[in-house]
Amino acid sequence: MRRRLRYSNWSGRHSTIPSAWEAPGDEEAVAALVRRAVAEGRRVKVVGAGHSWSDIGMPDDILVSLDGIADVRAIDRDAGTITVGAGIRLWQLNARLAEAGLALPILGSVTEQSVAGVASTATHGSSLVHGNIASGVVGARLVTGRGDMLALGADDPRLAAARVGLGALGILTEITIRVVPAFNLREEVEPVAVEQAAADVEAIARSAEYVKIWHLPHTGMAQVFRYTRTDEAPNLSRVARWIDDHVVNRRVFPALLRFSGRRPASIPRMNRIIARTYLKPTTMVAGSVEAFTLAMPPRHRETEYAVAIGDARAAFEGTLALIERERLRVNFPLEVRFVRGDDAWMSPAYGRDTCQLGAYSGQAPDLDPYFRGFERLMDGLDGRPHWGKETTISPAKVLARLPMAAEFLALRGRLDPHGVFANGFLDRVLGPRAAAG
Ligand SMILES: Cc1cc2nc3c(=O)[nH]c(=O)nc-3n(C[C@H](O)[C@H](O)[C@H](O)COP(=O)(O)OP(=O)(O)OC[C@H]3O[C@@H](n4cnc5c(N)ncnc54)[C@H](O)[C@@H]3O)c2cc1C
Repeated sequence: MRRRLRYSNWSGRHSTIPSAWEAPGDEEAVAALVRRAVAEGRRVKVVGAGHSWSDIGMPDDILVSLDGIADVRAIDRDAGTITVGAGIRLWQLNARLAEAGLALPILGSVTEQSVAGVASTATHGSSLVHGNIASGVVGARLVTGRGDMLALGADDPRLAAARVGLGALGILTEITIRVVPAFNLREEVEPVAVEQAAADVEAIARSAEYVKIWHLPHTGMAQVFRYTRTDEAPNLSRVARWIDDHVVNRRVFPALLRFSGRRPASIPRMNRIIARTYLKPTTMVAGSVEAFTLAMPPRHRETEYAVAIGDARAAFEGTLALIERERLRVNFPLEVRFVRGDDAWMSPAYGRDTCQLGAYSGQAPDLDPYFRGFERLMDGLDGRPHWGKETTISPAKVLARLPMAAEFLALRGRLDPHGVFANGFLDRVLGPRAAAG
């Protein structure tokens, strides 16, 4: 498949015209493609669903899609695992798991992404009991920058690097990930004063199996979402969800974001009107997939950093103070989530339970000062970036903040000696690599 089409990420902020679009149908074809690229001095970038706010998945040269390697290969009920072609999307995987009475133990807010994409950027939900999605990966197959095929089992130390590989180590062609019996969740939403939520953030994080906090700036209030397992039957209204998805998120919110982007002075008042409509205590029971996920949000931009859970209060209060002090007008919620510590070398949760703070905004004049101020604050708190979200982190800071970064770079040198998997993002964030060849 060869097309001269433009490739864009979800937010539309990054786009490029790849020199070629490749869609190999099996691992051998992936390996042959890599060997050819190396021989010709080219770079290849494997993409998932393009759902990263950062340019981590932007091809400089050849785009490779694994949409054709997206099959379910094995379900092992005794081991509690499923093995899939790495290009499978989360929604496809969830559907197959549901048929088998199984589920992933945790998800983020949407399921459009590929399994390899979410693992590669350490995509997460919110729980100090469960790690990010990559933490469930117990096996993988990887095509390296030499065109070799590696099988990485749970006992292979390189799996801890490849689980969150940033697309820098090779092309994952197969993933084996932990699954659990399907379960229902009761969601309880409690409105609280935002100062209270920030002061108590650590206790709140530990108050249920899954917990997250949203704060719409300028409202003085936060919503605490708690999710507990239940045997109750789901009562999620599909009509309400459809309206949320097709009317509110696709029509009403985008119009409000466009208006507030042009008239930023209206943002505080508009946020307060939205809060009056939505800030109510609510409860709902749903299957885990429906409970974890949201209607697709309107187009906006995100940056996100992970701090040690002990710094969650300072990070949360610091962000509130930043908005106040700089008089920033912010038209999207601040999201506060939690991730159990893990051992994936480049995971923002490496070695510590974390609080992940997400600063989000629709296009608006204060977006840049907000994101830059937020990143400066995270700098002071040893913050580690979410790889799939906007970040200006430098290679020196990556080395200082991620204890295994040097080992990761050394392994990258061995697995991708020609820099065939490099792109602009990796050059900027991990340090430049010579072009392949
Ligand atoms: C609307 C929306 C909601 C989101 N919600 C959340 C959330 O709740 N929690 C959260 O943490 N993040 C969230 N994200 C971020 C998103 O999950 C990550 O950026 C994720 O990586 C996107 O997956 P993708 O399949 O689109 O990968 P892409 O963005 O296409 O690629 C991401 C990286 O993965 C690499 N990659 C892809 N496939 C392979 C492969 N086979 N082998 C090796 N590397 C590969 C790419 O090269 C690239 O480096 C959200 C994003 C959007 C747009």
